[in-house]
Amino acid sequence: MIPNEFEYHAPSSVEEAIRLLAEHAEDAKLLAGGHSLLPMMKLRFAEPAHLVDINNIDDLRGIQLADGVVHIGAMTTESAIIESDLLHDHCPLLPEAARNISDPQVRNRGTIGGDIAHGDPANDHPALMLACNAEFRLQGPNGERTVPATEFFLGTFWTALEAEEVLTRILIPAFGPRTGYAYCKLKRKQGDWATAASAVVLVLDGDTCSEARIGLTNVGPTALNATDAAAALVGRVIDEDAIEEAAKKAMAICDPAEDLRGDTEYKTHMAGEMTRRAIRQAVQRVKGN
Ligand SMILES: Cc1cc2nc3c(=O)[nH]c(=O)nc-3n(C[C@H](O)[C@H](O)[C@H](O)COP(=O)(O)OP(=O)(O)OC[C@H]3O[C@@H](n4cnc5c(N)ncnc54)[C@H](O)[C@@H]3O)c2cc1C
Repeated sequence: MIPNEFEYHAPSSVEEAIRLLAEHAEDAKLLAGGHSLLPMMKLRFAEPAHLVDINNIDDLRGIQLADGVVHIGAMTTESAIIESDLLHDHCPLLPEAARNISDPQVRNRGTIGGDIAHGDPANDHPALMLACNAEFRLQGPNGERTVPATEFFLGTFWTALEAEEVLTRILIPAFGPRTGYAYCKLKRKQGDWATAASAVVLVLDGDTCSEARIGLTNVGPTALNATDAAAALVGRVIDEDAIEEAAKKAMAICDPAEDLRGDTEYKTHMAGEMTRRAIRQAVQRVKGN
């Protein structure tokens, strides 16, 4: 289908983008990679009268490390994430997971900021952000604010972003020593969204888990922060009993919608299985280091 008519804007600064958003209020949408927005416009689920293309804003791209925190510009593409040596060294979960997002065509245009701002529980970055303890820098007409990932995803296609705000960067604490990580994603075929997926980041002190976070993809109205599942690992040596307890606690919070990928029971069980596998792999990575 062909989208409705719209006016196209191409600002060259974040301030100009914000001014355009404020001027056109609910009638405007930011355009990043366009791989979620344009399909929705073609189906006429989204009909913005003004499209504010932020591809010319260089400040929104790039990956840096400052004071132990990885800063990722919202317009950084999945391909740039996969190729980033800095991320391989300081947040290797992201390049590994980004390889499992769609296909090269989508990854060359699709941005981490768009993936997060879209608020789609099927997208992979929201659960990854929960597991990475990320924060989001949002800029609007009244200045900047920082929102933790745990408070950002409010519902399906609904986030803490106000209509006139731009997500400018993603902040992730650099992974420290003895940090294990994994993203286990079940999908029907290469290029598909997850049937269910689990992102795990944990830290071992000796053989004991001192810190753990688990995010779940596509098994609820938003990415799910599996805090009870993660708590089942902390303070313990991670053996099969601990893994089983965490998987059961992860399954207990799942509420997936039925679709062609499976019914509620199947998706819930797969979230549990992805969690088991991701914990085992994360532990193995620490012990293999
Ligand atoms: C065939 C196909 C398969 C896919 N498979 C997957 C998958 O397996 N996993 C996955 O995670 N994703 C998948 N995607 C989605 C893809 O990753 C999109 O690129 C992503 O969801 C949106 O990023 P974008 O840069 O294209 O954003 P756009 O489509 O341009 O924007 C999406 C939304 O976010 C808003 N937005 C964008 N940037 C900002 C910003 N900086 N600040 C505030 N709001 C902003 C826009 O206004 C819009 O509402 C797939 C897409 C396709 C077409």
